Amino acid sequence: MKVAVISDIHANKQALEAALDAIASSDAAEVWCLGDLVGYGADPDACVELAREHAAVCLAGNHDLAVTGEVPLDEFSRGASLAAQWTQEVIDKDNLAFLEGLAAQGREDRVGLYHASPRDPVWEYVLSTLVADLCLDAQSDRVCLIGHSHVALSFAREEGELATGEPQRDGASLDVSSGEWLLNPGSIGQPRDGDPRAAWLLLDLEGMTASYMRTEYDVAAAAAAIRAARLPDSLAERLEYGQ
Ligand code: ZN
Repeated sequence: MKVAVISDIHANKQALEAALDAIASSDAAEVWCLGDLVGYGADPDACVELAREHAAVCLAGNHDLAVTGEVPLDEFSRGASLAAQWTQEVIDKDNLAFLEGLAAQGREDRVGLYHASPRDPVWEYVLSTLVADLCLDAQSDRVCLIGHSHVALSFAREEGELATGEPQRDGASLDVSSGEWLLNPGSIGQPRDGDPRAAWLLLDLEGMTASYMRTEYDVAAAAAAIRAARLPDSLAERLEYGQ
């Protein structure tokens, strides 16, 4: 079975719809979502509803937990905190109840799933080989999926060696049939690796390959929705640059 792995949607309806269209045209049988459905963007309800409809598995991210009140807003940047408060005001109560039922980690088909990292599923950013090594020591599954940093990347480790890592561009395909792995699909709704297109991962659980995908979407419409909601302008601007 192939699964499409998505993460960090951040209430960007335009990006999520475009990615789900691309996923529907792929041979993915399921969608697994690593969390952060809401926060930053202007369409929390539409994104939670799309996730409820399409995702077989869905984790909670730190922004989801901020909206449900499980993590305090003072741990967030000003823009993130404002967006979380705005989301609390506008979100439909059924969608809020859905977020309240999610956890920041899970396990499917011997693959570990974490919003942030195996050591700290809510907050830790895995962006260095040093941190990746500590996470690979902590994880019980050979292959784990992580989100949170909004950067499409992979870390790998062979027996007795140190971890290596690299950013992954559109079209990159990895053989993950041996060694230990941490794979980040990148972000659907707010990429931070310089490529503004929605990022996702196609994971083949039989062949054990991971293919990094990017999907174009209407960035201008997502930015306009953020401005119309009177959320901080910086949240609209960064979508255009993928930062
Ligand atoms: Zn996020």
